[in-house]
Amino acid sequence: MGAMIVLLFGPPGCGKGTQAAFIAKRFNIPAISTGEVLRGECKAGTELGKAATAVMAAGGLVGDELINPMVANRIAQPDCARGFLLDGYPRTAAQAEFLSGLLGERRLPKPVAVFLDVPAPVLVRRISSRRQCPACSRIYNLLSQPPKTAGMCDDDGTALIQRGDDNETVVAQRLEAYQRQTGPVIEYYSKQGAVRIDGDRPMDAIWREIEALLAPAFKTASA
Ligand code: AMP
Repeated sequence: MGAMIVLLFGPPGCGKGTQAAFIAKRFNIPAISTGEVLRGECKAGTELGKAATAVMAAGGLVGDELINPMVANRIAQPDCARGFLLDGYPRTAAQAEFLSGLLGERRLPKPVAVFLDVPAPVLVRRISSRRQCPACSRIYNLLSQPPKTAGMCDDDGTALIQRGDDNETVVAQRLEAYQRQTGPVIEYYSKQGAVRIDGDRPMDAIWREIEALLAPAFKTASA
């Protein structure tokens, strides 16, 4: 049986995390968000976390020399044997090269790349109303996907938080890093056949399009 590898691209606030969770559930593969892994490392106070904290707080990109081995280790875990989804990686040309070398070395298939496109003004609006459960990482939006009880996670009742880097100044930096460093990466994957999906729509409509796109690829991979 083959594995299915999905790369989910898009600017901060485009809905990657929400769609990644749908994909993971539907196709039974782990959704690996490098941002989530890094936030976990920061919280746990590991060496990697200590090295990443200041850069993340400023909205910059953590160094490739830290991110690449972190991803290599993560995708070697047994839960990735049937495939995996990467959310927020690769974000630089050097990461894209590293990933392609890694997949080749491990004889893994060519990834299916999906690019969720959302205009910048919409992103800023969405990010300011984004909230997250610090326990299970579920994402909410006060306007479009509010929790059933204000301020509380539907799944585990934990008090929702706003990410430290979801403030206006840092968001501007993150968008800048995205355009400058990730822009070329998306261009590269577009030439390789990445599918652009209009992310400025309700999440159900986006999900239907992504599901229709991935279902045949998944069928081939599990044949
Ligand atoms: P995200 O949750 O994807 O918005 O990522 C949050 C922050 O983690 C980013 O602003 C970066 O500082 C850092 N980060 C996440 N993924 C990467 C990556 N692939 N390369 C470099 N930095 C990353």
